[in-house]
Parts: sequence; C-alpha cells; structure tokens
Amino acid sequence: MTARVLVTGGAGYIGSVVVDQLLARGHGVVVLDDLSTGHREAVAEGATFVHGGIGDRGVVESLLAREPVDAIVHLAAFALVAESVADPEKYRANNVAAARVLLAAAVGAGVRRFVFSSSCTVYGYPAAVPIDEDASKAPVSPYGETKLEFERLLEAHAARDGLDVVTLRYFNAAGATERRGEDHDPESHLVPNVLAVALGTRAAVDVFGTDYATPDGTAVRDYIHVDDLAEAHGRALDVPVDGGRALALNLGTGSGHSVRQVVAAARRVTGHPIPAADRPRRPGDPPELVAAAQRAATVLGWRPRRSSLEEILASAWRWHRAHPRGYRS
Ligand code: NAD
Repeated sequence: MTARVLVTGGAGYIGSVVVDQLLARGHGVVVLDDLSTGHREAVAEGATFVHGGIGDRGVVESLLAREPVDAIVHLAAFALVAESVADPEKYRANNVAAARVLLAAAVGAGVRRFVFSSSCTVYGYPAAVPIDEDASKAPVSPYGETKLEFERLLEAHAARDGLDVVTLRYFNAAGATERRGEDHDPESHLVPNVLAVALGTRAAVDVFGTDYATPDGTAVRDYIHVDDLAEAHGRALDVPVDGGRALALNLGTGSGHSVRQVVAAARRVTGHPIPAADRPRRPGDPPELVAAAQRAATVLGWRPRRSSLEEILASAWRWHRAHPRGYRS
C-alpha cells in the first residue's frame, strides 16, 4: 500500500537513500531536515523538502497540518559517539528533547506509525555476540543512552496511544548508491576515512584500539550496506505490529569484520597501499558488535543483498571518486 511518509533527517547519509527507495515504491515523501549535518543536494527532487528542526513545535505542527502523513520515519539525530562523550547535553537536547516535540506532534496529528532509527549502541558491551534484540541494554556512551531513552518513550506511547512503533537498530551503515554517499564533517566512520586515504585527502587511516580480545586485536563491526538498510524501512511501513507493543529489529548481516580486515579489503578494491596508524582505544567503543539478524529476516522478509565487504567498499569507492569533495563536487 502506498502512504504519505514524513522522513526526518532525509538529507542525511542514510535518510537520503531511504527517501529514494520510498519514492521508488510509490510513496509520497516529505523531508524535514535542519541541514545541521545533511545536504540539500542529497534530497531527491520527488520529495517535498521542509527546512526546519524536529524540536520546533510550530514548524512540526504546521507541517503535519499542511501535509497529513500516515507514518513518520525518524532518522534526524546527532550520531557521533565521541562527540556525545565530549558534549552529552548536545545529544540529550537533540536526540531526546527535540525528538519528544516531534513525537507529541505526531500523536496529536493522529499519525499511525512511527519508525525509529535506533542503534546497536543501545546494547553497550554485549554479554554475548551475535547480539539478539532481547539482550540487555546498557549503553556505554551518551549517544547510546539517548537512543535507548527514546526507544523507551516510544514503547510508552505504543502502549498508551496505540501508536504502531517499529524500532530499527542499525549496526554499521556503510557503502553508497549511485547517487548518494557518506559526506560528514568531521567524518568519524571507518569506510569513508579509509577511502579518503586512497583518494589522497588523508595521509593515513587511524586504527583506534589494537589490543581488544578479537582475532587481530582491532574492533569488529557488522557492516550493512546503506541500500539494504534503506530497503528495510519500506518493509517496516507495512509490517503488522502487535497493537500497543513496539517492535524492535536489528538491522545487520550477522557477520563481523575487524578494522584491519576493512583496511585490507579497501587496499584490494582501490589498489592503493592505504597506510594505517595504530591509536589508543576510543571511549565508548565496545570490542565487538555483530547482529543476530534473524528477527528482521522473519518479520520483514528482509535479507541484506549488497552487504559483502567488497560490494560495500566498491560502491563507496565509486561514489567518493565521483565526489572527491562530497556533495560540493
Ligand atoms: P547524518 O548525520 O548523515 O543524518 C542525520 C540527518 O538529520 C542530517 O541530515 C541532519 O541535518 C538531520 N538532523 C539532525 N538533527 C536534526 C533536527 N533537530 N531537526 C531536523 N533535522 C536534523 O547521520 P546518518 O549516519 O545518516 O544517521 C541517521 C540516523 O541513523 C541517526 O538517527 C543515527 O543515530 C542512526 N544510526 C546511524 C548509524 C550509522 O552507521 N550511520 C548506525 C546506527 C544508527
């Protein structure tokens, strides 16, 4: 069924691909984004763009009155773990307080469904890997705490107001589509930083933590192609939700790759030697985060198709070569 959907953060890395896919499925899309970390050029022409903040009650209420929507896909947030450690209040203000304003307006306007971009950081240092959705939640960064707090608010609204809530816990988004790629400033994610070395815009890639209890001592993550991630959102709009209960789903592949494996794969894909510099661990970085991905497969009928490490790096490499200065080029 086609729907009218509000995508917050639709000018961002993941949101811009979600918007493309929702439009391709025939949905009507409105994007609300304040462009704090996103790019106007990343928003598809077929979407209605509103420049504004999710915490601006006047903007959100008038948008929902003018453009009634069936569902909200809420990606807008600050998303840098290290920055959240340095400035937790910035994260609480945006990811919780501003998001509350959006949620209240959504409930007030009778929006039926709320799809939320959460994160594997809600699990903190997991007791067992792969991590399933029922694992204990003990975030180790203020960023992860804000994601968990908003998940809990949504659960309360699902129970109280009958809002259909689907919480998607992304593992590590990576890769690019033909038109959209990752362009953050500063960039903290491994794949664009590795490729920046191959492009000649960075001297070496930093490897944070080389003494973890992992096979090669570097941190292991579950990399999921942004196109696969985006596809799950279209499915999340239609999935039946048990009235009053929020549905939480991991979005990952179920396989992990270490930092050194990613760097080695990037050397193969780019043909560049990519020097690496070993650095101390960063606060808030667990050794290994890999999803148990079965629930999303069963409930959404979703399986990653483009998430091999080679495909992730090759697609990102194509995009970064075509856009050496990001969306400005
Ligand atoms: P991004 O920074 O590229 O996108 C976020 C977008 O939200 C930007 O366009 C930004 O301008 C917008 N935004 C931020 N605050 C806003 C506000 N108050 N009002 C309106 N717009 C606002 O980040 P991303 O990597 O695309 O991440 C998107 C979402 O996915 C975030 O919620 C993030 O926490 C979550 N997530 C990302 C990853 C990942 O690997 N990138 C992993 C887990 C979860």
